[in-house]
Amino acid sequence: MKRNQFFNSLSIVSRLKAKIGYHLLFFSIILFSDYSVLATPDFHLIPGGFSPVSGKIPSLSINWTYSTTDSYANSYIVPAANSWNNISFQVSLNKVTSGSYVINAVTSTSTTTGSFGEMIPYCSDGSGYKCNFNKNWNSARVIGYVNQMTSYNFTSTQIISNYAHEFGHALSLDHYLGDPNVLPAVLMKQGKQGILPQQTDKGHLIEKWGS
Ligand SMILES: [Zn+2]
Repeated sequence: MKRNQFFNSLSIVSRLKAKIGYHLLFFSIILFSDYSVLATPDFHLIPGGFSPVSGKIPSLSINWTYSTTDSYANSYIVPAANSWNNISFQVSLNKVTSGSYVINAVTSTSTTTGSFGEMIPYCSDGSGYKCNFNKNWNSARVIGYVNQMTSYNFTSTQIISNYAHEFGHALSLDHYLGDPNVLPAVLMKQGKQGILPQQTDKGHLIEKWGS
């Protein structure tokens, strides 16, 4: 049933309630924002990001590391990062435990209810100035807010999905917000879910970096 048919089938009071519910759903999605720039429905790519032409990261071959235990990384972060490989020939995420890296995956806690993760880009090496989303980044941090995931009873699959979502931001994918009634399964929307990159996400990665 299409949305309009659905509304027309209801009484006036029910229609009002349904519309309020629809808008509450939209605003609850906004509440789950994990970074400060909110996306609009058509804006699914972050303009800036790691630059393959900067000379620093040829072909967007990105070394990443982690500041968690090995077992936590192997259980959740490694499968999340690997889920973005073999989609675009231009993009690869390579786990390193020594030598240089540009993404550090960390765990932290957040006091913001429903904030499960965050990706913070930096213009300089290390943890200096946070970078603008329109600029070239030199490094980034992928953060999982463990206390929030725990309080929302995330399963292992949902934890992996959460890190995969944040790695998606590190690869310059923004949130993809469409009409909730027609939105296909997509990793780069906000909230608790248990999926890896879907066709829509893969298409956006290729749109940004090439096939
Ligand atoms: Zn996000």
